[in-house]
Amino acid sequence: MTATDENNNSGPMTRRSGMSATGLDVNELEKLHILRRVGLESVVGLLENCRMRILEPGETLLEAGQTNQTMYMVLSGRLRVHLENTEGEPVAFLEAGQTVGEISVLDDSPASATVLACERTRLLVVEEETFWRLTEASHEFAVNLLRLLAQRMRANNFTIRETSQQRRQFERDAIVDGLTGLHNRRWLDSTLPRLVQRFLRSGAPLSLQLLDIDFFKKVNDTYGHAAGDHVLRTVARIVVAALRPTDLAARFGGEEFVILLPDTDLDGACVAAERLRSAVAATAIEIPDGRTIGPVTISLGVAELTATDDAAAILWRADEALYRAKEGGRNAVEWLRRP
Ligand code: GH3
Ligand code: MG
Ligand code: MG
Repeated sequence: MTATDENNNSGPMTRRSGMSATGLDVNELEKLHILRRVGLESVVGLLENCRMRILEPGETLLEAGQTNQTMYMVLSGRLRVHLENTEGEPVAFLEAGQTVGEISVLDDSPASATVLACERTRLLVVEEETFWRLTEASHEFAVNLLRLLAQRMRANNFTIRETSQQRRQFERDAIVDGLTGLHNRRWLDSTLPRLVQRFLRSGAPLSLQLLDIDFFKKVNDTYGHAAGDHVLRTVARIVVAALRPTDLAARFGGEEFVILLPDTDLDGACVAAERLRSAVAATAIEIPDGRTIGPVTISLGVAELTATDDAAAILWRADEALYRAKEGGRNAVEWLRRP
C-alpha cells in the first residue's frame, strides 16, 4: 500500500474504512509477507473473489500426502505443522501474515505436511487459478513467492544439517556392537586410555587379551557369511560367559575381540585365556541351517600393563603375542612379559 492509497477513498478497498467491499481487512492484508510491497489495488479484485475459511481449534487444514491445489493466507489465529504424528511436537507454527500450501500449488504435488489449527484461525483461500493470476498481476507478488521459497529451502537445509549432525552424534554415542552386543571399537578407543591411566595411577595390575578366530575366512568361504556371523555371536557368548563381573569385552573389528581384565596380572590373564581357548575349541557350533561347524578355534595374545605403557603400547604387545600364537600353529595362548 502506498501513501497515495491512504487518501484514496474511491478504490474498492480503503484504509479509512479498513474493510473491502467483501469484508477483507486492509490491516490483515498488509501483514501478509506474500503481499509485501504489492500495490493492493493491483490484486484486491482477485483477493476479493477468494473465500474466507474459519478453522476451529484442532481442525485439520491440510493432510500430508493428500492433494492440495490451494494456497491459504493466514489472516488471524495460529496453525501448527506436523511432518509425521500429529500427537508429537509440531515442526513449525504459522501465524497471521504467513501462508501455507503454496508449494503444492507450484509443483502440483500432494501436501508434504499436516497442518492443524491451534486456535480459531481465519484464512483467505487462494485457489490455484487465482494464485497464478496473482503472479501475473503483480511482479512483487511473484518476487515474494520466490523469497518465500528461498526461505523454505534454507529452513530445509538447516533441518537436514541438524538431522545429519544428530545422526553422527548418535553414531558417536553408540558404544555397542550391533552383531555381538559387546562393546564396540569406539567404546574401546575411548575407554582403554582412561582405564590405563587409572591403573597406572593406582598401581593395581591390568591385563589385556586380544582374541582372534582362527581361519575365520574359511568359515565364511565354506558356510557363507551368515554362518560366519553366527560363529561371531557364539564366540562372543562364550567370552561373556567366561568373564568375571569386572572384566570388559569389546569387538575390536572383524573376528577380533579385546578383553580387559582389571586387577589381574599376566599369569592370571593367561590362565583365563587358556580357559577361554579350550571352551571355544570344545563347543560344537550349530549354524541355523542345522549343520555343525567345527571345531572353531581361537588364538589369544596376552599382555599386562607396565609402568611405561599407554593404551597403544599394551595393545601392541598383545598383538605381538597373538602373532606368535598364530605363527606357532594357532589354537593357542601366547604372552609378552616385557615391552
Ligand atoms: P587367521 O587364522 O590368520 O586369523 O585367519 P583368518 O581367516 O581368521 O583371518 P583373515 O584376516 O584372513 O580373515 C578374517 C575374515 O573375517 C575376513 C572377513 O571377511 C571376515 N569378517 C570380518 N568381519 C566379519 C563379519 O562381521 N561377519 C563375517 N561373517 N565375517 C567377517
Ligand atoms: Mg584377524
Ligand atoms: Mg582370524
